[in-house]
Amino acid sequence: MTAFRGPHSGIVTERYDVIIIGTGAGGGTLAHTLASSGKKILLLERGDFLPRDMDNWNPEPVFVDGKYISHDTWYDADGQPFQPQVHYYVGGATKMYGAALYRLRPADFGEIKHMDGISPAWPLSYDEFEPWYTRAEWLYQVHGAHGEDPTEGHWSRQYPWPAVSHEPRIQQLASDLQAGGYQPFHAPCGILLDEARRPASTCIRCAWCDGYPCLVHAKSDAETIAVRPVMDLPTVTLLTGAEVLSLETGSGGRVVTGVVVSRGGQREVYQGDIVALAAGAANSARILLRSASDEHPDGLANGSGQVGRNYMFHNSKAMVALGKERNDTVYQKTLAVNDFYLAGDGREWPLGNIQMLGKSNAEAMKGEEPKLTKLAPHWSLAEVAAHAVDLWLTTEDLPKPRNRVTVDRDGNVHLAYSQTNDAEAAGLYKEVKTMLNHVGMASHHILDKNYYMKMNVALAGVAHQSGTCRFGTDPATSVLDVNCRAHEVDNLYVVDTSFFPSIGAVNPALTAMANAIRVGEHLTGRLG
Ligand SMILES: Cc1cc2nc3c(=O)[nH]c(=O)nc-3n(C[C@H](O)[C@H](O)[C@H](O)COP(=O)(O)OP(=O)(O)OC[C@H]3O[C@@H](n4cnc5c(N)ncnc54)[C@H](O)[C@@H]3O)c2cc1C
Repeated sequence: MTAFRGPHSGIVTERYDVIIIGTGAGGGTLAHTLASSGKKILLLERGDFLPRDMDNWNPEPVFVDGKYISHDTWYDADGQPFQPQVHYYVGGATKMYGAALYRLRPADFGEIKHMDGISPAWPLSYDEFEPWYTRAEWLYQVHGAHGEDPTEGHWSRQYPWPAVSHEPRIQQLASDLQAGGYQPFHAPCGILLDEARRPASTCIRCAWCDGYPCLVHAKSDAETIAVRPVMDLPTVTLLTGAEVLSLETGSGGRVVTGVVVSRGGQREVYQGDIVALAAGAANSARILLRSASDEHPDGLANGSGQVGRNYMFHNSKAMVALGKERNDTVYQKTLAVNDFYLAGDGREWPLGNIQMLGKSNAEAMKGEEPKLTKLAPHWSLAEVAAHAVDLWLTTEDLPKPRNRVTVDRDGNVHLAYSQTNDAEAAGLYKEVKTMLNHVGMASHHILDKNYYMKMNVALAGVAHQSGTCRFGTDPATSVLDVNCRAHEVDNLYVVDTSFFPSIGAVNPALTAMANAIRVGEHLTGRLG
């Protein structure tokens, strides 16, 4: 450890073995993996700890007021400002996530033909990645049942916890689907729960999980699972309120020599042997693009021109299906269906994944769909919510170079994006309607017709952002090598969802966590 004077700031700081930027699924998990090495680690987090108070569980501040969403302004392709749904806290987006912790399917690691183009192959196979998935599932205490879903790959170890039991309404749905020839399976859930002592239905409000922070820290998020257990170690330093602005490189441009930070109104520069960027797909690209220099005129590590490109975020739909029966489920996210995930069985194209959402309520409906629900009285929304079965449909979004993050002269994020695979997403929606009709939900509707409320996620819903620094073997077409090290910079790694060459049609966090463990083990070896 050596003290040094920052090149521009005049602030004395220390030298670290590893500097990790961001504490979410990627950065937090990397810190946890490296902590046992005894190396000196600095975690730089732009946000603070998410305050724990009753608002955490209150749909009004969470969904209507957007209390936990950052005040960032980003701009679309036409230069129109919008507020992205990003969350800057220790734990990153996982503080709000639904903790549905899926593995990509083996087919996702290969090339897949879609209606709108090709989902490219990864430079690693599923089998090579599998051990890291297992490590991540055990670290994040995932509940599930490997072996139920025919689309999943092999697993070297069963989940650490049995699948969370379906509550009665969801069990009924599962049985009806099975009787109808479908293959529902228990969804993998990252929840800190021992059902032998306490069923999920007693979780009360925190069991809504999706979109809510957990006041009692019973959700397997990156703060609770990865950062808190290591942050008091003498070798780990966590600085909150530390926004990384850019990275400096020495002459030749092959080594990051300084991490430039804005903290408490001061500009500080930190030095580390290894710098691991994990600020989220858009912000990691932003930092690299803001770090242009003579050696890297188009942005750091961007000789390929790929930094910021191939932005993906899934083609998703939230859907509320109504049945005659009440749905008093508390923890609803226990069931999923992958029957339409792959092409085949008469389907020309892969359509995607169907899973449950956190249970809806009137306030959340208002927050999510203000236009649609504006005129509806609260009692009517409450009645709808009481009968609602909430579904989340995900179709793969393809990496297109035109879908990209750029920065303007002031360093603001511009996001140019047009969705892919709309026809496949429509195909999945149609299959779900057929499926629900088949299990009798349509004939037990409370309205006078077969009623589904459907919401399309707009550009601001960047929850599943990924793909802006893809990994690969060819420096001409990828930003990172197979170990997620920048092809052009010896000590720079990117370990958030930026590295995804394709996103598949399941939630991304477990893959980011597994990859962070993989990269962490590589770094442990590299650092000796
Ligand atoms: C409401 C919601 C529900 C979701 N549900 C699920 C789910 O059920 N399952 C699933 O798999 N995924 C889910 N996701 C997505 C999942 O949370 C993300 O894919 C995952 O957290 C991405 O990990 P990451 O490391 O790339 O980024 P993040 O987890 O967002 O971490 C990025 C970190 O970098 C910090 N940061 C940003 N800029 C800077 C900077 N300049 N300097 C310093 N720090 C910076 C941020 O504050 C943050 O801590 C959900 C997301 C949301 C928002």
